[in-house]
Amino acid sequence: MVVIATCLGTLLALQGGPSEDVTESWLGRRLPTVQSVGSAWLGPGRLPLGVAEHRARVVVLSRWGSDSRGRLIDRLVRWHERRGVSVLHVVRGGTDEGVQGIVAELRRRGVEHPVLDDRRGRNAVRFGVVATPFAFLLNEDGITLLEGSPFEARFDREIRRLAAEPAQPTLDYDKHVRDLRHRLPHGGFSVVVQRPFVVIGDEARDVVKRRARGTVKWAVDLLREGYFRSQPDHIIDVWLFKNRASYNKHTVQLFGERPTTPYGFYSPSRRALIMNIATGGGTLCHEIVHPFVAANFPSCPSWLNEGLGSLYEQCQERDGKIRGLLNWRLPGIQTALRERRARTFAELCSTTDDQFYGDDQGVHYAQARYLCYYLQERGLLRGYYHAFVANQREDPTGYETLRRVLRRADMAEFERDWSRFVLDLER
Ligand SMILES: [Zn+2]
Repeated sequence: MVVIATCLGTLLALQGGPSEDVTESWLGRRLPTVQSVGSAWLGPGRLPLGVAEHRARVVVLSRWGSDSRGRLIDRLVRWHERRGVSVLHVVRGGTDEGVQGIVAELRRRGVEHPVLDDRRGRNAVRFGVVATPFAFLLNEDGITLLEGSPFEARFDREIRRLAAEPAQPTLDYDKHVRDLRHRLPHGGFSVVVQRPFVVIGDEARDVVKRRARGTVKWAVDLLREGYFRSQPDHIIDVWLFKNRASYNKHTVQLFGERPTTPYGFYSPSRRALIMNIATGGGTLCHEIVHPFVAANFPSCPSWLNEGLGSLYEQCQERDGKIRGLLNWRLPGIQTALRERRARTFAELCSTTDDQFYGDDQGVHYAQARYLCYYLQERGLLRGYYHAFVANQREDPTGYETLRRVLRRADMAEFERDWSRFVLDLER
């Protein structure tokens, strides 16, 4: 996480709220390297070449001599004291003595963060910042999670969240496995602990082990790398039934219900993923997404939860990252687009659970999946997810965050572009 602060001169940012013009938004994107311009770097340590090297969490742009300077420094000191947040402070205008004065004031207050004298305001221009003070909060990868006035409450809130260690629940797997063994339908089941899951299957023990390492661990590691800091706070069983007969019979026997899908499903209340593994590992990857979304983004709307889940039901690893591939849901969305049955993204994003899982559920899944696929292909999906999490209070549907990450003022135009993109895809 990184915050970069700059002080330009006007106080327009204090009006708060995102600008209507989204062409300059860095939300969900990597902030450009901060350039060393104007006079020398005045902060402690070596001259940083960029945000990545600096590992700042907040980049603040401000303007020398602005009325809010005292208030801004109070804020920066508070972040530093409470959260140990790393700040890169870019100051436009002023004199050498003036900028030295800021550095001296910070030191006096026990804070040492680099202050860049951006005399000609090149960084502000580069970042498209027109009002100061203006701050960017970045995650470990340099992705912008928040942008706006550093006085907005969401900065404090998100810094607190990111600075907190993710909860690592201590769970008693031994006891869980002992209890589980009493519930097994017969002796042909093997139990393999693959944290945070316990995998249970009625194929040969080696096969169950291979699925636990090769599919479950593989997907969990890649998904955590891309999206999820926190583990589920309870143990989740992954039942891998070897064929349809076993799946149908044992789902009734163990859980008292008949499956409504031939592939498998996640039951949060039973803390279980229940799979007919004969249909392949795709559904398993899909369902693994859901408990992680629940642990990391509890208020995630269904459209994104299912968009991500279904994106990874056909996936591969490339350069250590998980990547969704085209799959069987493509013809459905292509037909819906041709027949003009797809929703606008404003509609899709604001669907309730009942609406999403109601009529046209297949089109909703496919539309959400291929929006995620589009974002992935543009290198924006992870950034979008993290920016959505950071802005969830202000934008619970994710639509405004989507618009900003895409840098589209006109979403109708985007929908036409996206539609062309999807219609041109071929499996
Ligand atoms: Zn799902």
